Amino acid sequence: MPVGTRLGAAVDDAGGPVEPPQAVLVGGYAGRWLPPSPDLPLSHAGLRSAAGTLGAGLVLLLPTAACGLEVTARVVRHLAGQGARQCGPCLNGLPALADAFGDLAAGRPPAGTLDRLERWCGLVDGRGACAHPDGVAGLVRSALVVLADDVRTHLGGPCGRDGRLLDGVPA
Ligand code: SF4
Repeated sequence: MPVGTRLGAAVDDAGGPVEPPQAVLVGGYAGRWLPPSPDLPLSHAGLRSAAGTLGAGLVLLLPTAACGLEVTARVVRHLAGQGARQCGPCLNGLPALADAFGDLAAGRPPAGTLDRLERWCGLVDGRGACAHPDGVAGLVRSALVVLADDVRTHLGGPCGRDGRLLDGVPA
């Protein structure tokens, strides 16, 4: 798609949504969740002003029937396994984030999990020799904000929705 295409036009061009989306992941797996506004411009400036990123250019709609926290947990786990484990954030920070987010997605987060996620995101940010850890931290932070209703539900147990509904999300 040409840079600057609106999200709604991009989705229509791909055949349209099969159900109303609850969120959109922009920028690839190390990107950001955003509310799925049809007017969202898929450009560097447009996404930056919406707290997103164009990143790898991938756009993924989250169906209403899917659990966004489980999808995020799977992506974070995948990304934690993709680092070269040469810098502290890749060796220690990303696996810890994956474990904590996995607990949240499973609906059994120990007390203090949200605080730890926020703190650990701050600890990995800017600490690697590349931006791989920053991308994971950004994804986690955006999930906690955009999927805040689900986060509140998961503090008391799983939501019952399926996180394996999305093709292309690593298991
Ligand atoms: S932070 Fe980047 S450079 Fe450092 S180990 Fe991870 S992937 Fe490699």
